[in-house]
Amino acid sequence: MYLYLYIIFFTLCLYGILYYITIKHDNFKKRNLNNEYYIQSFINLIIACCIILIVCSNKDTLFSTTNTISLKNMIFYIIVADMFYYWFHRITHRTPILKTLIHLTHHNSFNLLPLDVLYVNVIEFFLYTTITNFWPILISDISLIEYLIVSFILFVHTIYLHSESTHTFLIPLFTDSKCHKNHHQIGGGNYSFLSIWDDYMRTNIKTKKIKKQQNNKIKNNKIKNNKIKKNT
Ligand SMILES: [Zn+2]
Ligand SMILES: [Zn+2]
Repeated sequence: MYLYLYIIFFTLCLYGILYYITIKHDNFKKRNLNNEYYIQSFINLIIACCIILIVCSNKDTLFSTTNTISLKNMIFYIIVADMFYYWFHRITHRTPILKTLIHLTHHNSFNLLPLDVLYVNVIEFFLYTTITNFWPILISDISLIEYLIVSFILFVHTIYLHSESTHTFLIPLFTDSKCHKNHHQIGGGNYSFLSIWDDYMRTNIKTKKIKKQQNNKIKNNKIKNNKIKKNT
């Protein structure tokens, strides 16, 4: 009983902090947020807290029993979680019906706010939270404390991604705010929260631009060569 009260209190405090940094953000006046925005983001926060509660209450079956904190375990977990997130996010973008029905909710504005992290279609948020929380635990050998530390880092990073900050993130390899802004504004890339998968799959927006420029160059050269051939 006390645990549930604690979770409700924790959820309210977390939402209060997110709400506060959102209304203090420069973009807040550019957005006309309605009740639906606040209700949906609050429901998603409850979903996230419930999933973490379910995970924690099954700690004996899900987690390793070691009490030490291993950096290796945490890095492995983040890489696996990012792999699932990358493919889930990419599929929602590349499948028109999924994009229209569920993913566009999160993309409804170019002026990002920290609370946008929770402004996601409820079905998508549930799937995304389940996929990035349960599946990596099953593959990795992570302990409960390591999982809680990693979850905290990932949550702070997603808030940072929606803050339009000009500073880079404290931890190397995590994508910066500008990168996610490009995802919202230009689209078609920058799907993951680490730079590894987008670099490897060549879906980072910078690479795509360079690729486009190179293709245009090749195309122009071909046209030029054809013209020369015709003239000679
Ligand atoms: Zn997206
Ligand atoms: Zn976003």
